Amino acid sequence: MLKRTSMRFVGVLLAALASVVGGLTPARAAAPQHQDQVPGFFRLKVGDLEVTSLYDGAAVFDLHWLKAETATMDGVVKALNEDPHLLDVSDTAFLVNTGKQLILVDAGSGTWFGGGAFGHLVESLRSAGYTPEEVDLVLVTHLHSDHIGGLTTRDGKRVFPNAEIYVAKSESDFWLSRETAAKAPKEVQPFFESAQAIAAPYIKAGKWHTFNGSEPIVDGVQLVSLSGHTPGHTGYEFSSKEQKILFWGDTIHAHNVQLQHPEVTVVFDIDPTAAAATRKQLLPKLAHEDVVIASPHMLFPGLGRLHEEGNGYTWAPVRFTDPWVEHASSSQQH
Ligand SMILES: [Zn+2]
Repeated sequence: MLKRTSMRFVGVLLAALASVVGGLTPARAAAPQHQDQVPGFFRLKVGDLEVTSLYDGAAVFDLHWLKAETATMDGVVKALNEDPHLLDVSDTAFLVNTGKQLILVDAGSGTWFGGGAFGHLVESLRSAGYTPEEVDLVLVTHLHSDHIGGLTTRDGKRVFPNAEIYVAKSESDFWLSRETAAKAPKEVQPFFESAQAIAAPYIKAGKWHTFNGSEPIVDGVQLVSLSGHTPGHTGYEFSSKEQKILFWGDTIHAHNVQLQHPEVTVVFDIDPTAAAATRKQLLPKLAHEDVVIASPHMLFPGLGRLHEEGNGYTWAPVRFTDPWVEHASSSQQH
């Protein structure tokens, strides 16, 4: 009995001590962790265009996918040892609301690439206030599955049932040819198979369209041939009120390497020499222009500008801002 009383006394003493240690405030439960992320979209205004980056997923670019001279590669390996996040990449698609049309540029991986790391596009699109049914057009930079996988479900249904799809004829002819596929190296075969399966329901519905390079598809949009990575790899440059944005597809994959070394190619380049030549021609031009670049594999939201630095380039991401309420003069600076 005595023992029980003294134990109760010790308990009271300890509780009093805890309240002193705790700053004499009543004990509070720890705030629970929320374990979710902000919705996967980011908006930017370009002239009168509303551009929305749509997160599809994030991954790491494999070191062995890079092709470079030994000295450059040694430097990359050293840099990667110092920064294990050197090859972090994203997969992002972009939505443009022109006020007349809702245009998707590329469509992420869906479930066709990346072993489950991707496929958040529709969720991001809905978070951004749109539905797949509202998308009028999809402009495709090229037919790799990490850019078109989001168009079609694994059981062959169109994710964007009302959308007309546009892709360069040379691109469509290459990947949809069973003859070309049969002659391709084994490791490239899956890209042919996925491209054909993803395109099939749109072709069947009469919604798969090709262009030769010069014909107008959308008012204020210029087609920019970026051939090399794939035969019909195409950029789309939108202009509005003197402002420009270029959706450049896979011009750059591993930005921390290829902006400093534009000569570095990747195993996915169908014509590596042409891919490097395209970068050599395009990057200095973009660095001297005021043009926003929309880059699917730059870290989300994949929107920024290029600046020259040494023999290479640096990426200046766009600021986080609310472009609809900001009218201060600072908004005129870039
Ligand atoms: Zn690609």
